[in-house]
Amino acid sequence: MTTPNLPRWTGLAAPPGRFAACQGTVCDSGTSCVTSPALDPAEREALIGLLLDSSAEAIYGVDARGRCVFVNRAFLRLTGYDDADALIGRRVHDLIHHRHADGSPYPASECPLVRTYRDGGELHGDDETFWRRDGTPFPVEYWSHPLRRDGKVIGAVVSFFDIGARLRDEARLRQAAAVYESTLEGVLITDPDANIVAVNQAFIRITGYAEAEVIGRNPRLLASGRQALGFYREMWHALTTEGGWEGEIWNRRKNGETYPEWLAINGVRDGHGRLINYVAVFSDISRLKQSEARLEQLAHYDPLTGLPNRLLFQSRLAHALNIARRRASRLALLYLDLDRFKNVNDSLGHPAGDELLVAIARRLGQRMREEDTLARLGGDEFIILLERIDAPETAALVARQILDLLAEPFQLSDGHEVFVSASIGISLFPEDGGDVTELVRNADTAMYQIKDNGRDGYRFYTESLTHAASARLELETRLRRALERQEFELHYQPQVAVADGRVLGVEALLRWRHPERGLIGPDHFIPLAEESGLIVPIGDWVLERACAQARAWLDQGLPPLTIAVNLSMRQLRQRGLAGRVGEILAETGLEARWLELEITESMMMNRADPALETLRELKALGVGLAMDDFGTGYSSLAHLKHFAIDRLKIDRGFVRDLPTDRGDLEIAATIIAMARNLGLEVLAEGVETHEQLAFLSERGCDAYQGYLFSRPLDADAIPALLTGAG
Ligand code: C2E
Ligand code: MG
Ligand code: MG
Repeated sequence: MTTPNLPRWTGLAAPPGRFAACQGTVCDSGTSCVTSPALDPAEREALIGLLLDSSAEAIYGVDARGRCVFVNRAFLRLTGYDDADALIGRRVHDLIHHRHADGSPYPASECPLVRTYRDGGELHGDDETFWRRDGTPFPVEYWSHPLRRDGKVIGAVVSFFDIGARLRDEARLRQAAAVYESTLEGVLITDPDANIVAVNQAFIRITGYAEAEVIGRNPRLLASGRQALGFYREMWHALTTEGGWEGEIWNRRKNGETYPEWLAINGVRDGHGRLINYVAVFSDISRLKQSEARLEQLAHYDPLTGLPNRLLFQSRLAHALNIARRRASRLALLYLDLDRFKNVNDSLGHPAGDELLVAIARRLGQRMREEDTLARLGGDEFIILLERIDAPETAALVARQILDLLAEPFQLSDGHEVFVSASIGISLFPEDGGDVTELVRNADTAMYQIKDNGRDGYRFYTESLTHAASARLELETRLRRALERQEFELHYQPQVAVADGRVLGVEALLRWRHPERGLIGPDHFIPLAEESGLIVPIGDWVLERACAQARAWLDQGLPPLTIAVNLSMRQLRQRGLAGRVGEILAETGLEARWLELEITESMMMNRADPALETLRELKALGVGLAMDDFGTGYSSLAHLKHFAIDRLKIDRGFVRDLPTDRGDLEIAATIIAMARNLGLEVLAEGVETHEQLAFLSERGCDAYQGYLFSRPLDADAIPALLTGAG
């Protein structure tokens, strides 16, 4: 780089104020400086030259006519000229100031700077544009100081620098400030320690906090409590490792209302990479959310009934299928089509039809469990998804209930009473299909078969299921009615002492005298009665009937008999069973000691079972307790002590092959021996042969019941048996 040739300075005094304090003739401030008489003129000149050249500001000197006297190095750098000597004597105005900022000519006669060269005034401004040698303009801030000799103005020294960058920064800042204040997005700025240092108008509008209420505080004050701690931990992690975070977050307004916002936080660093601020920009997206929800509603729900539409139904079904597959559970689809709905529309008009559909949807909805989905497929077609059903009959039961529900007339607002019926087709997973399309199609097919068969009913896609389910349902309905119609009766099977053949008691066994099917044994209906809960009223009837019968026999003058009554699990779990038994005993006038209740092992799985308490209460009444079907369950003999049992009944299964089967033989012998050890009585069930009886007798079994002595008998047959045996 070439050092430009600078002009000689001799005789020139530095302008006051712009350079270091000066004692020259024109200067009235300061102490020693380059003009100090301590320096010889050559040194002084060199020093001034050095000073001028080390300045970052461009400096030039002109005479009173504006001709260049000197320029410094910064001048050359800024204007793009390279030869200082070539500039000397040229009019500086023409060199760098000949045009206005807009490019129009700028006559020297109009230039305020030029005026100072002549007139000597000081001038400072930042509104001028200078031009480089290559024709590009740049805005400047400048100072002009007069140059005097012997008190007379002989020119000026002008310094200036390019303020383009500064102006650009200022403009940017002004724009940013305008954006900051006018944007719809809330802006919050914190220091590195997350203390709020600034917020904008939108922040104030969205959150409801005034600026003064939040400055200096932690943005935590906006937290809604909806996000877990881990959420914020992740946010901070992203902020510290990635320098920013963006996402959806729920915050709380000053009035307590929570709202969703889309939030972007960024760290701001200075030129040295030090974190100086966090800037959070957020927009309130509750509106957006609302319209999203609205869209979701439109896309997935039927506008008339508010029920899920086909689209949503299919996605729920797909989801349910995944779960059912994983859990190996069953689910059912009920495809429901109203019968002759077109008639309603045609005769009463569409508004009435719509009203009816809404009412039907509401009524159906009442029957649904939480986990079920009821959807409207369109028109008069509905579909129901039943998740996790235990047996096909459950689906049939729901279908039946739905048909019953719809059978009640609908009252329309115009006063019309409308009767509707429906046809329901049922498909099951996994039996009738493995995917959405197949299951829906098969339920639909089954529905059309009902329509072909005269409507108003349900049908499974798999035909055999329809029969099985309807048989079962019919049985349940019949069973319900059997109690009212007094179709139940008790038969009594004698229990006999092994030692002397004396009748000790009888076991009451339930029978159902079905009007068409004749006498039905308990094995055919007790399980269903248990499932449906009907066993509770039925069992109550059995207890009452048996006690009344025992009392009647006593009243007839027969020797006292123990009457054994079977209890089901459902009954035992019922609250207040002991109280009810006490009532029955009181009503019938039977002493408690003549009643024995039979329970089975499976009812007593653990010692914490609340049923144990019921057993104790029964025991306290003075009622006997027997363990029925012993050996088929899992309880150990020692376990029995906790049940307060008086008697064990060896299950018929172990008696049947006595005394030939070695296994049975050992089991029966062991049960007898251990029961005796525990001080329990033992009764063997199902004794049919003399060999069996002989074995039991030999092993010390106390009592037995079985066809060998007598089948279960009608109540009337018992007295003869007793008197005969007695
Ligand atoms: P269980 O209490 O073990 O009753 C004995 C069953 O064995 C009776 O069948 C009886 O008829 C049958 N049985 C008796 N001796 C012989 C024999 O020598 N050979 C054969 N093969 N069978 C014999 P039933 O009356 O059909 O009763 C079946 C089960 O139904 C009963 O078993 C009992 O668990 C239940 N049950 C009967 N009545 C009631 C009741 O009122 N309530 C409850 N919850 N269950 C009852
Ligand atoms: Mg029994
Ligand atoms: Mg038994």
